[in-house]
Amino acid sequence: MFKKVFLLLLLAFIAGGLIFSQISSKDDFESLDSQAMYQKIISERDLAIQKAVESGDYRCCIYPPCTMCYMEANQWNNFKAGTCACDQLIAQRKEPCPQCKKGLCSKDENGACLVKEKEDQ
Ligand SMILES: [Zn+2]
Repeated sequence: MFKKVFLLLLLAFIAGGLIFSQISSKDDFESLDSQAMYQKIISERDLAIQKAVESGDYRCCIYPPCTMCYMEANQWNNFKAGTCACDQLIAQRKEPCPQCKKGLCSKDENGACLVKEKEDQ
């Protein structure tokens, strides 16, 4: 009898703990100040980009990868946010997104941007 009650209590305790930890992790974020929120969003964004790179959706040409193609649909990701096609654009000798362009940029004597070749190929 006591054993049953104990097990039931234990179960309730575990379930309660799980629910509470879920609620409090949400509260954790809400209790952050705006700078800490920003830092958390940035680090989670970068994690998400890393995953998109690994799955092949994010074919960026700079490292660390650009973020603008992830955050918004634009002409450099075929208007599909969360993806990047800068690598393809460069292969087709077209302009990559401004972030990639800046990352790749080496200037010629007139100060114009030259697109550098990828170094790992
Ligand atoms: Zn890009």
